[in-house]
Amino acid sequence: MNSKLEKIPTVKLVKWKMKIYIAIFLLVIFLLFGMVILFVIMSSTSDDMIGEHLVQEENQATTDIYISSGIAPEVTRYESYFKKYAKEYGVEEHTDVVMAMAMQESGGRYLDVMQSSESLGLARNTLSDPEKSIDQGVKYFSDVLEQAGGDVELALQAYNMGHGFIDYAKKHNNGKYSKELAINFSDYMARRMGWSRYGDPHYVENVMRYLEQGESIAVSKGDWSFPLREIRVTSEFGERTHPITGEINSFHGGLDFRCSPQDDILAVANGDVVEAIHSNVGYGNYVTVKHGEGEFSRYAHMTSLSVSVGNKVSQGQSLGKCGTTGSSTGNHLHLEQLTKLGQPHSEKVDPKKSLGLE
Ligand SMILES: [Zn+2]
Repeated sequence: MNSKLEKIPTVKLVKWKMKIYIAIFLLVIFLLFGMVILFVIMSSTSDDMIGEHLVQEENQATTDIYISSGIAPEVTRYESYFKKYAKEYGVEEHTDVVMAMAMQESGGRYLDVMQSSESLGLARNTLSDPEKSIDQGVKYFSDVLEQAGGDVELALQAYNMGHGFIDYAKKHNNGKYSKELAINFSDYMARRMGWSRYGDPHYVENVMRYLEQGESIAVSKGDWSFPLREIRVTSEFGERTHPITGEINSFHGGLDFRCSPQDDILAVANGDVVEAIHSNVGYGNYVTVKHGEGEFSRYAHMTSLSVSVGNKVSQGQSLGKCGTTGSSTGNHLHLEQLTKLGQPHSEKVDPKKSLGLE
């Protein structure tokens, strides 16, 4: 009687053990299979394979790009000044915003086009040279935009109400602009100053009447601007170790970014095109720009090139389209920083510092 009862649990235990062994066996097979697949993928790749994983998700600031709509000829007649100073103060991508501001400030009908005499501590409309007014206005906008971390709306309201608005936004609204916040700040400052009103809390929407929102682009904190409108680093500069064996495979002489064939590859700084090569091997179609003595940038694996040797390029200008030409297995940009042409990979510079990504 007892022996009969004891037999049942023993059989059950054996069955359970079998099940666990089978499960472990299947798991091991599954893992081995996965590793073999990964090994095949990694070893079949050449210099510039990009993994589907992201090496790091950059915590990057972005700036919204606005396109002008309905700027009057009184303002557009000064377009060359707006472009000149926007470039000088590093806000070239916001030239249209500055012109929309001039529409709101003066409609182009006063010589102090940007009404910037006050930001110089002078009385209203005392600047009589349009170029000076634009120079000062763009400079001030560039200052507040930097403080606003590239947030155009926040910068616009600060242009109208002063730097204090940015601190106020940080304190009361996570550093974001809102119309309600502008009204509150206006009331607060008016009370504090004993004035009947302070600034124009509708300034942002007034300027936005002359703008349409376009795309959003990433803003670099370094000397170089970003080579793409959106930045995703997919492979770091330096020694590459095999993901499984840990052995050092090669030296990656650049920084890789994810991109799609419709994306423009942008010049990171002003310079001269010194190489514009069409090739099916190595770098594929690539461009090298000289920015100064001992400073070059190289853009590899492009689908098409839109510049030739000898061209002068300005920061942010398109050099061609993203691609996967040459020794590459997926669409990406391989960006290099060189101190001289013909430099070995290991002597090249990690572009991260110049891009402000460190
Ligand atoms: Zn690369």
